[in-house]
Amino acid sequence: MSYFKENIDELAAYIPGEQPGRDSGVVKLNQNENPYPPSPKALEVLREFGGAALRVYPDPMVNQFRRAVAEVLDVPAEWILPGDGSDDLIVMINRAAIGPARAVAYPVPTFPFYQTQAQIEAAACVEVRANDDFSLPIEQLAEANAAVTFVSSPNSPTGASATVEQLDWLAGRVDGLLVIDEAYADFADQDAISLVAKCANVIVLRTLSKGYSLAGLRLGFGIAGPELMEGLVKAKAIYNVGPLVAAVGAAAISDQQYHRECVTKIRRERARLREELVARGLVVWPSGGNFVMVSLPGGDGLAAFEALKARGVLVRYFDQDRMQDKLRITVGTKDQNDSLLAAWDQSSLGNTP
Ligand SMILES: *Cc1c(COP(=O)(O)O)cnc(C)c1O
Repeated sequence: MSYFKENIDELAAYIPGEQPGRDSGVVKLNQNENPYPPSPKALEVLREFGGAALRVYPDPMVNQFRRAVAEVLDVPAEWILPGDGSDDLIVMINRAAIGPARAVAYPVPTFPFYQTQAQIEAAACVEVRANDDFSLPIEQLAEANAAVTFVSSPNSPTGASATVEQLDWLAGRVDGLLVIDEAYADFADQDAISLVAKCANVIVLRTLSKGYSLAGLRLGFGIAGPELMEGLVKAKAIYNVGPLVAAVGAAAISDQQYHRECVTKIRRERARLREELVARGLVVWPSGGNFVMVSLPGGDGLAAFEALKARGVLVRYFDQDRMQDKLRITVGTKDQNDSLLAAWDQSSLGNTP
């Protein structure tokens, strides 16, 4: 006898990346956080925010933040649905659209939270193996024709991006929703926001956690047309984003100049890190995100993870099919990346340049 539903008892709990304390001195390259501080304008809003707005219930639709996003992305404010991180949007979508007779499909490897949420809703998961080069298996996803298809693009942990043409084709082939999770689009060469106007079944997800250095604030949003918006709003917690989060987030996203500076630095370091790792004999997969997936010359991802950790550098190892010979490494500052490279060289993990 259990207090919980069968599918909850059977569920393996989601495992987040390790979180050593901020004073631990660890070089933290395991959760794709942005190494730069949030926008100074956002921090100013945070400092000035008084207590008055906290006494009353907030605007359930978070219109202040919606308007700021609409301005930056050039879409109607009514198409923006804010959430407590983009994780909250994934929860809302699954709550609204899937269940015992309504399956979810996604390529693997990908963000494990799609599976966690599907199991909570007692929905079947159709896991489609990504192509050999980790590109999107669009035909098999179309064939699965699930109630909700999740595509993370750029994808974590692989870094692979789907093209707008591929996503457009997939949206036209599935009868259900196509969720394009663009958590890393800030670092990529293209995005799929144009498909929201074009395809009635497309939702694009964005977050301020990665591109805006606000993983701790918890703010993300979906972009969807009016028809989808109506259903999703019904599935949302009433006051899912408070006024402090909304005000800080609005200031952050409005500060596009600072945002572009940070993104430029990270893209530059991504290119340098790639070159340095290739020179050490690693296969570095193309990445549109603020991280790279590498295949190790020795083939033992766990050993490399442990060796780097012993030298104070934390990266991500995934104990799953096709990932055991790989690591996912977040692109840090130049100094952090140099620490990673030094730890690599000291570990005698492969060829040195
Ligand atoms: C980080 C991440 C998210 C979650 O972002 P939050 O806004 O912090 O909840 C969603 N999808 C993918 C693929 C991610 O990597």
